[in-house]
Parts: sequence; C-alpha cells; structure tokens
Amino acid sequence: MQRIATCSCGTLKLVCHGDPELVALCHCLACQKRTGAPYGVAAFFKKTSVSISGDHSTYERGSDSGHPIAFKFCSRCGSTVFWEPSRKPDMIAVGSGFFGDPEFPAPDKEVHTHTRHGWVQPLNHSKL
Ligand SMILES: [Zn+2]
Ligand SMILES: [Zn+2]
Repeated sequence: MQRIATCSCGTLKLVCHGDPELVALCHCLACQKRTGAPYGVAAFFKKTSVSISGDHSTYERGSDSGHPIAFKFCSRCGSTVFWEPSRKPDMIAVGSGFFGDPEFPAPDKEVHTHTRHGWVQPLNHSKL
C-alpha cells in the first residue's frame, strides 16, 4: 500500500509506503499557525518508508519539549507538507490533508487540548 501527499501546486511530492505509525491531532497554537486551521493532523511515517521529490525549503523552530522541528515547505506554493521532529529522528510527520484522501486513517490521539477551539468536538474514540 502506498499513499501520495502533494502540496497545493503539486511540485513537492511524498510517496509513503504502508500505514502511518501514528496519527496525532494537535490543537497547539503553532499547528494553528502552520495550517491556518483550528488544529493540525500529523501522520508519522518511518523515514525509510517515505520517498520525497520536489524542491522545498526549511523553517526550523523550537518546541515545547525543547527539541527543534524542521518544517519543510514547497518553495513555489509554500505548503508545509512535512516536518522532521528532532525528538523522533527516524520519523517524518506529514500533514494528513496533503493526501487528499477522506479515507485516511483517523487520529489515534489528540494533544494540546487546552487550546482546542470552543466549537471543535473532542475526538470520539468510540468511532475510531
Ligand atoms: Zn507547491
Ligand atoms: Zn501542534
């Protein structure tokens, strides 16, 4: 099984093999800034399961845990398609929306719920 994530313009492309190791929904303000949406959903794959093609740039920032994260965005359209958390050096996180797939696996967990927007419902684990 492989899934393909692409940026808005299609230049940056990731081919991800197998299912994600973890899917996490994050309500933190940094994910809100990254996506422009009230939360972000990250699918973590092993680096060895992902092939990356297309020109991209890096924006690195710190994190609550103190481990910097390197965000990778398309040099043409600016979509932050994936990032490399230094806390998990063998993993790549991919924004789940870039797969354009309504059947993409649902989040396993949600984090930073203290900044969940008021109208956003908590994850319903009975449906997972
Ligand atoms: Zn692009
Ligand atoms: Zn976050």
